[in-house]
Formats: sequence, structure tokens, C-alpha cells
Amino acid sequence: MDAAEFRRRGREMVDYVADYLENIEQRPVYPDVEPGYLRSLIPTEAPLEPDNYDDIIKDVERIIMPGVTHWQSPYFFAYFPAASSYPAMLADMLCGAIGCIGFSWAASPACTELETVMLDWLGKMLKLPEHFIAGTHGHGGGVIQSTASEATLMSLLAARCKAVRRVQETNPERLEAEVLSKLVAYSSEQAHSSVERASLIGGVMMRKVPTDNTYAVGGGMLKKMLEEDRAAGLIPFYFCATLGTTSSCAFDHITELGPICNEENMWMHIDAAYAGSAFICPEFRPLLNGIEFADSFNFNPHKWLLINFDCSTMWVKKRQDIIGAFKVEPLYLKHENQESGRHWQIPLGRRFRSLKMWFVFRLYGIEGLQAHIRKQVVLAKEFESLVRADKRFEICAEVVMGLVCFRLKGSNELNQLLLKRITESRTIHLVPCQLSGLFVLRFAVCSRVTDSGHVQHAWRQITQLSCELLQSDH
Ligand code: PLP
Repeated sequence: MDAAEFRRRGREMVDYVADYLENIEQRPVYPDVEPGYLRSLIPTEAPLEPDNYDDIIKDVERIIMPGVTHWQSPYFFAYFPAASSYPAMLADMLCGAIGCIGFSWAASPACTELETVMLDWLGKMLKLPEHFIAGTHGHGGGVIQSTASEATLMSLLAARCKAVRRVQETNPERLEAEVLSKLVAYSSEQAHSSVERASLIGGVMMRKVPTDNTYAVGGGMLKKMLEEDRAAGLIPFYFCATLGTTSSCAFDHITELGPICNEENMWMHIDAAYAGSAFICPEFRPLLNGIEFADSFNFNPHKWLLINFDCSTMWVKKRQDIIGAFKVEPLYLKHENQESGRHWQIPLGRRFRSLKMWFVFRLYGIEGLQAHIRKQVVLAKEFESLVRADKRFEICAEVVMGLVCFRLKGSNELNQLLLKRITESRTIHLVPCQLSGLFVLRFAVCSRVTDSGHVQHAWRQITQLSCELLQSDH
């Protein structure tokens, strides 16, 4: 493909993408294929001679689209949103064209510098404490990670390194392996599974802190566990708080937890993967109060801030804590200006992801982004009202943002069957969670284009399937 053909095919692709997104609601949101469907549709080997472009595009509709779960469909209410916007897609295209691997300042100065400035812009939108903002001569700053899971892992590894060094400073005779075996990390029992995985990868114990009746962790319970563990000779070193849990969007009480972590010399990381975007709205910002106690903070603009995957933003109070933990500097990567995100992450290479942030922030403005968040919260409240008005259903957790947890009053089996029928209908898509031993359905407003009509349609679908289910003997 030469530049002339690229121009032609590029225009065609833009049309294909615009048509796909404009007409997405006509496609079943959930695919009707069986595992392994694709292998039988494509050759067993890569072609020796080049294929024809038109054939590839035909195969996209024939082979790929039937197996796509349409996350951008307004009838997709599963998991949490996967952000998507035209400005972000255009910026991603430019990122692909520049094709730099920004592992150091010299590897592409604009890549490193724009990222630092975008993290400052976003940090200021969230009204983060000054120490997180790189351009204020503070000791902190931010970088883009691929995912919240990576941010949690990096914070845990940095905390682990800091804890071992601290113990060895006062007790030089203690071996690293022995100290590691005594370290304990903590997180909510409602924390995302990636937090537990971080402890498994990091080779440290993790204890799950029980939550209160709102599925949030408070200071009292953590304090009690710390006392028990210290008495047993263990070394508490890390707590991961969640703002906006995956199951029910609960908020740990960080104003209580933060001072405890600071007094106990524990690293506090805050995982706000989904809810973090909402903190750009003044009415939601109080939920972030207590951030001043945190050592690191992360959320996913690729969930709710209209920036396509991947873009997970992470800030640390002291850059040195994270850079100092993992710095290895071979000659071929050395440069006078060492400022770079590679010391904050596992891979060396870094894409020019800040272009997506820059395009989206400039083309929506803070007000446009706030309007997007508010619209989705209003839609969630609309769905909540529909559920509350129907005596056969119950709401299972407070609706704070764009997630509604609900269920048919009755057994777990009944609700499992309802979800099965919803999934099989392929007209709307939801996933479940477990709260207090109950099987609960999660309704998350996800697509940028979901509106009231889609929410009403989804509710009609749910009630119709429920009626059929309740009338049958299951
Ligand atoms: N943390 C929370 C609270 C989440 O809800 C999720 C995913 O939904 C994650 C972490 C994992 O996110 P990621 O895919 O960016 O690792």
C-alpha cells in the first residue's frame, strides 16, 4: 500500500467506522457464535502472496463482526464503560503514524513532555493536591499506564521496595527474604481482583478488610486488623483503597483510612478506575476528599472520560519512590535529560497516548466532559426509578454514579435465569455481581450515545423477560 492508496483506503475506513458507529444499535449487542467459531472461517496459515484489500474488508463483516460484542452499542450495559470518541480515535491514528516508542525524553521529546503536561491538566481538573502536579516544583507527578491493574501493581512493588529499605535501615541484619515474608498488604474485600493479583505477582501477603453495610471499608476495621498483625510480628506496608468498587460502586472512607496509613507508615494507593472521571464534576469531588493522604492515585480515563483504551492515569506523591525502586540504566538508554515514564512501568516502550488526552480535552473542554458524566448519571437514576416503581424488583446498593445494582425479589437461581434470558435475547447486555451472598444484576450506563429511549427499551426488555420467567415454573 503506497501513500496514494492509503489516502483512498483511509477515507473508506473513516466512512466504515462512522457508519459502524452511527448504525451500531441495529446490530445485536451480544454475538451469536460458539467458542472456536473463527478458526473454521480463516485459513490455517498466513498467505504467501499478498491478499486483496477489498477481500479483507469483506471478511471484516463476514468473519469479525459476527464475533464482536459491541461495547459502543447504546444497549451495552455490562462491566463499566469503554470510553470512545471521534477525537480520541483521530489522535490514536496520529499516534500510529508517528510510531515513536517514547521510552526516554530523547526517544521523542514531545511524547514525554505532552504526557507530563496532560497529567497536570487532568490533575488540576480533579483538583488533586499540589504535590501530585509535576509542574509545581513538587516531588510528585503523573504518567499514563495501560491499565488500573498495572498501576496497582507498580504502586505495590514501589511500596514493597520502600518498606524493605526502611526495615533494613534500622535492622541491617535482617535479610530481604525474611522481611518480605513478614510484609502484609490490605485491600477491601470488595476490591477488584487485580488488587489481589498484584499481591500474588509481588509475592506478598494480602488481607481483605471486611466492608460495612454500604460495601465500603472504614477506619475501624483496618485498625483492628493492623493491631492483630503487628502483634503477630507482621509488617503492614500497603493499603489499596477503592473509590467506586466494581460490584456496586462503593467508596472506601479514605478520610478515615488515610491518616491511619500515614501514622502506620503504610503506602496508601487509591484505585478509582471507573469513578475517578466523575471527580472533574464539583458535585462528585467530595468523594475524593482524603486524597491528600494518598501516596498514589489512579483512574481510567479510558473508562469514562471519552479517551479510547488504553489510557490509565496514575499520580504519585513522590516520583522518587517509584523511579528509585525500578531504575536500571544501560548505556544505550542513557541521555542527559532522564525524565521519562519508563521507570514507572514494566515495559520499556511507551505509545504516544497523551495525544488522545490532548485532542479530547481541547475538543470537549472540561464542560463537555462534565456534561457527558452528568448525562450518564441522570440515565442511571432514570433506570433506578423504573426499578423502584416495580414491586417485583429491589435496588441492592445506593446509586451514586452510572451503575445500578438490582435484582428480582426472590432466589439467586431466579436472577441467574433472568440474566441468562437477557444474554440470550442479545438485545441488551448486562453482567452480574455478588453482594452479601446475593446474585445481583449490574446495569451500567456505558455508551456515549445511550439516551433515555435506550434505557426505557432496556427496562421493557427486562420486565418482559421477567414476566415470562415468573409465569413459567422456571
Ligand atoms: N479497579 C476497579 C475498581 C475496576 O472496576 C476495574 C475494572 O473494571 C479495574 C480495577 C481493572 O481495570 P483495568 O482493566 O484497567 O486493569
